[in-house]
Amino acid sequence: MVNKGMGQSPKRYAAIAGALALLAGGAAAIALQDGRKVGYDDTPFLPGGKWRVHDGRRPQPKVIEPGTSSTQEQAGKPPSDAVVLFDGTDLSKWQTDGGRPARWKVENGYMEIPKNGGTLISKVEFGDCQLHVEFAVPDPPQGIDQGRGNSGVIIMGRYEIQVLDNYKNETYPDGQCASIYGQYPPLVNACRKPGEWQTYDIVFTGPRFDGDKLVRPAYHTVFHNGVLVHNHTEVMGAMTHRALPTYTPHGEKGPLVLQDHGSPVRYRNIWFRELKGYDEP
Ligand code: MG
Repeated sequence: MVNKGMGQSPKRYAAIAGALALLAGGAAAIALQDGRKVGYDDTPFLPGGKWRVHDGRRPQPKVIEPGTSSTQEQAGKPPSDAVVLFDGTDLSKWQTDGGRPARWKVENGYMEIPKNGGTLISKVEFGDCQLHVEFAVPDPPQGIDQGRGNSGVIIMGRYEIQVLDNYKNETYPDGQCASIYGQYPPLVNACRKPGEWQTYDIVFTGPRFDGDKLVRPAYHTVFHNGVLVHNHTEVMGAMTHRALPTYTPHGEKGPLVLQDHGSPVRYRNIWFRELKGYDEP
C-alpha cells in the first residue's frame, strides 16, 4: 500500500497523484503531503457509514505543540491550540460583575484574590472544553471548614468544581476541594499543602436543551494534581447551596467564573481548548 517517491520530489509526486485522483473522480484523494498512499479502500465501513476501517482519506489530525508541564517554581506552557485566559501577566481576558474591570492582584506570574476583589468572569464564553487551571491556597492557612482557602472554578458560570484548602482540614465531602460542589465528593482527596501549586485538568461537556427540555446533562471528568477525581460524572444541575441542583435552559457557551469567597487564593496558567468532534477542523 505504500508508494515511494521513485525519484520524484515529494511535492511533485503529490501533485501528480492528486491530479490522477481528480481524473478518477476525485473520490480517492491522496492523504499525505509526501505522496504516500495510506490505509485501505476495500475494508468495511465503520458505523455511521462515512469512513472505512483504516480509511486513508480520513482527515489527518491537526498537528499541535503539546506544551510543557508546570513545576512548583514555574508554570508550564499550554498546548499550541489552547485559548489562554491567564498567562501570568495581566487580567485583559477578565472582567467582574456588570462588565466592570477585574480587580484581582497580579504579581510574580500569578493573580491573587484581594479583599473585596469580586468574582472574576472571563470575557470569552465557551462550553464543551478541556480546561486547565492552577491554584494555590493561602499559606499559612486561615480558618477552618469552608472558611479555609475557599474559591471555585465555575464553568459556564454554573457548573462548579470547588477550590478549598482540605489539606488536613475536613468539611462536608460534597463541598471539599475538587468536589462537584453540592453533588459529588472527589473520588480521593489529592490536595497539596497550602502554598503549593495544584492543578485541575477538567474535561467538561455542557448540557443540551431542546427548548425548555433537558436532552443531555452535563458531564465532568476531573484530574486534581494528575489524579482522577471525577470519571465522566453526570452533573445534576447548576451549583447551588443547601438546595437540590436543577437545570435551567441556557445556550451552549458561557463564561468561566473564578469565585471570590473571601480567601486570598492564587491562580496561574489558565487555558482551555474547545472540544470538537473527530473530523471537525
Ligand atoms: Mg467555593
